[in-house]
Amino acid sequence: MARERLYLFDTTLRDGAQTNGVDFTLADKLAIARLLDELGIDYVEAGYPGANPIDTALFAERRPLHAKLTAFGMTRRPGRSASNDPGLVALLDAQADAVCLVAKSWDYHVRVALETTEEENLASIRDSVRAAKAKGREVLLDCEHFFDGYKANPGYAIACAKAAHADGARWVVLCDTNGGTLPHEVERIVGAVCAQIPGDHVGIHAHNDTEQAVANSFAAVRAGARQIQGTLNGLGERCGNANLVSIIPTLKLKRDYADKFDIGVSDEALARLARVSHALDELLNRAANRHAPYVGESAFATKAGIHASAIVKEPATYEHVAPERVGNKRKLLVSDQSGRSNVLAELERIGLAIDKDDPRVIRLLDEVKEREAAGYAYEAADASFELLARRLLGKVPHYFDVEKFDVNVEQRINARGERVTVSQAVVKIKVGKEELISVAEGIGPVNALDLALRKDLGEYQKYIEGLELTDYRVRILNGGTGAVTRVLIESADETGDHWTTVGVSANIIDASFQALMDSIVYKLVKSGAKA
Ligand SMILES: [Zn+2]
Repeated sequence: MARERLYLFDTTLRDGAQTNGVDFTLADKLAIARLLDELGIDYVEAGYPGANPIDTALFAERRPLHAKLTAFGMTRRPGRSASNDPGLVALLDAQADAVCLVAKSWDYHVRVALETTEEENLASIRDSVRAAKAKGREVLLDCEHFFDGYKANPGYAIACAKAAHADGARWVVLCDTNGGTLPHEVERIVGAVCAQIPGDHVGIHAHNDTEQAVANSFAAVRAGARQIQGTLNGLGERCGNANLVSIIPTLKLKRDYADKFDIGVSDEALARLARVSHALDELLNRAANRHAPYVGESAFATKAGIHASAIVKEPATYEHVAPERVGNKRKLLVSDQSGRSNVLAELERIGLAIDKDDPRVIRLLDEVKEREAAGYAYEAADASFELLARRLLGKVPHYFDVEKFDVNVEQRINARGERVTVSQAVVKIKVGKEELISVAEGIGPVNALDLALRKDLGEYQKYIEGLELTDYRVRILNGGTGAVTRVLIESADETGDHWTTVGVSANIIDASFQALMDSIVYKLVKSGAKA
């Protein structure tokens, strides 16, 4: 039986950007768009051109993606023509493949929020869809508050959807804007809509206010809808949007959906899903949800006990899907095979292949586990892992010692009478028999320490000239006064390589020092510097 095509529409960069505390830069948005594109998402809704400078800049030029880059905006305002509404004009000028127009579909909102007539709202939908079509854009109409509108006045809600469809909108998207609709209601209402508009022109946009956005999306698909809108990790205002990271594997791996539908996500892309999910958290500088379905660190973790050996022998008996399918890992006990094979695979990847029965494999595994329990994050810090492994194998030359450092922060009034905070670092290192002392001032204490450390490495200085710190992230691991600080530093060099190092300590300067040292030593090893 031929499978039907089901389309995925991501709005992480538009609806997801409404999340409290989320503030994407243009570079963030482009990086996330690329992640989504590589995943095989059909539509990437990247923002609201004209509403803010970042989104306007994003849509000012063509962005090469396989996905259809989609611009979001409003239908024309009541009482204006489409060509005389600056918001709509800006939207239609955006360099986008598709345009998603949002319109009211609840009669109550038309009267109270728009202060216009039902007829004028329908005319606005028709005119705006036509104007976007005339510009050669694929058109989607988001019917805001569709489900509440349908419950209050089904005839009018459907009339809004039909108006858009009749005038050529590719998709009519039914939005559960306040997230309060339940799955059985979604199934019934979407079924009623699909009796009047073909389901392969109907989409669902669900919010998670009753924690059923994913279930609501599937209810809509069962009732005939063929486009699902959602976000990575369920990002979105209030309780979030439908989580595509849960929806995608369900569509790919659960037979009821997999037998019936094709989506743009390949098996290979699915195997990178966990990485995509974690990459977004890294970008937002927040901890990944360990308990996230499919991709969370605990999603396939089993505690010691009677199950452990059975899982190793026959994983399918305990796991609803194979973790590798979504790029996740099975987690068992300290002596477990998967941890050992992960370490072996990592060693091979970095060119340190050793015999699988070498006792140092277990020692490295134990060391990684012990340090991760203390707060180190080796999955995120590839270079620190490599150094740890190389040290254990005796493959890191002894380049230099930091005998002591001193970091000082001073607040004072400067010559112009302004209150300023100045940071200064003094570092004393020993290279062979030579003692070197460097002093540097920096924007902050970590910057000062970094500058002082890299100021004079004696004979090794030439190897680190091209070393550059490109990102610095701090996370407090367990709140309160006993908190531990984890610092991740990303570095790059003149060859375009980049790597990440980690430091952990109760003291932020000390954690930063560890990560800085790892970065420098890694660069020396990488450059082939000899001790
Ligand atoms: Zn929304």
